[in-house]
Amino acid sequence: MKKFPDNFLWGASTSAMQVEGGIENNDWAEAIRQGKAPKMGKACDYYNRFEEDFDIAKSLNHNAHRFSVEWARVEPEEGAFDEKELAHYKEMAQKLRARNMEPFVTIWHFSLPVWFVRSGGFDRRDAPEVFARYAKKVAEALGSNVQFYMTINEPLVWLGEHGKILGASSGPSNLLRSFFQFRTLVRSHIVAYRAIKRVAPNAQVGIAKHQFSFVGTNPLGDFAALLARFFWNRMFLNGIKGYQDFIGVQFYQRLFFWQSKKQESQTQKSDIGWQLHPGAIYDTLMEASRYNVPLYVTEAGIADANDEWRAEYIRGLLEGTHKALTDGADVRGFFYWTLLDNYEFKEGFSMKFGIVHVDHEGDQKRTVRESARAYAEIIRNNGI
Ligand code: BGC
Repeated sequence: MKKFPDNFLWGASTSAMQVEGGIENNDWAEAIRQGKAPKMGKACDYYNRFEEDFDIAKSLNHNAHRFSVEWARVEPEEGAFDEKELAHYKEMAQKLRARNMEPFVTIWHFSLPVWFVRSGGFDRRDAPEVFARYAKKVAEALGSNVQFYMTINEPLVWLGEHGKILGASSGPSNLLRSFFQFRTLVRSHIVAYRAIKRVAPNAQVGIAKHQFSFVGTNPLGDFAALLARFFWNRMFLNGIKGYQDFIGVQFYQRLFFWQSKKQESQTQKSDIGWQLHPGAIYDTLMEASRYNVPLYVTEAGIADANDEWRAEYIRGLLEGTHKALTDGADVRGFFYWTLLDNYEFKEGFSMKFGIVHVDHEGDQKRTVRESARAYAEIIRNNGI
């Protein structure tokens, strides 16, 4: 058996907007009201049912769990913080600790308060300070219950995709704006990093960074892959060098420069149309290991409504992760995306990434999938 290191962290990831329900004052809720995004209803009602969900994760042997704090709940108006909401997130962290599960907390996972977007969002000159003030509040409230923070979830995915929902970002259609926002996001991470460390000097603060495995199929393709790796995988990490105690690696896809139509059509794909190359997580871990900080896989997963491929896919991800460990990458944990079938932003509830099925139309009943049990067994063995 291929064993993982002692004290390896095992869990699943979630994000507030995708599971909590009942959030009305962020940009996605506004987009839903305007008919620009699929309806969300109560999502998974995780805001009220998180204990039940923690129990499920615990019963599946998880010893860690990643959740995010919803900025719009905690700071519903600029500079005005809601102590009740802060207490809610503190309670979540405490309830995880009580179950011997390590909380991993994301400060910002894609959705933004409406007031922040309306006042200029990451076009604001003072955005880093505004963001860091919020991050500091969270760290103060959660206190010693939390040792691991991620400031921003996937800054480049936000810039290129999620921020566009209400025009808070414009992606490649306005490169100059994206360039300035990129710099502001780097700064926001750094200022928030410092703010959290002042409040919680022992906390480990990192970023949750989306990484692709880019592969060339001929010399020109190799060159294109090199450039893509530099711009997509490295640039942000280079920008925050010295301000990351760990990197949260998030892996979903291998991209080819260029793949023949035939190869493309012969490759197995998930429900969302992404090719299945789980072992390619190896490339992203080896690349991130150059930064000489611990690595955690904070997301990797598959949309698979029938639960046909998931167990095998998880095994493939862990084969790749184990190989990276053997080759010297300091990987300390793995969080499957995601615990519950959730609100997949533009795809609504149509994409099922969860190891636990949720009846969104009915009574929100949770049903543990077979793949969740296969994952639980791997965790029990601490190996594959
Ligand atoms: C995001 C998640 C999302 C997942 C699957 C990741 O890039 O962090 O919020 O649900 O991809 O699309």
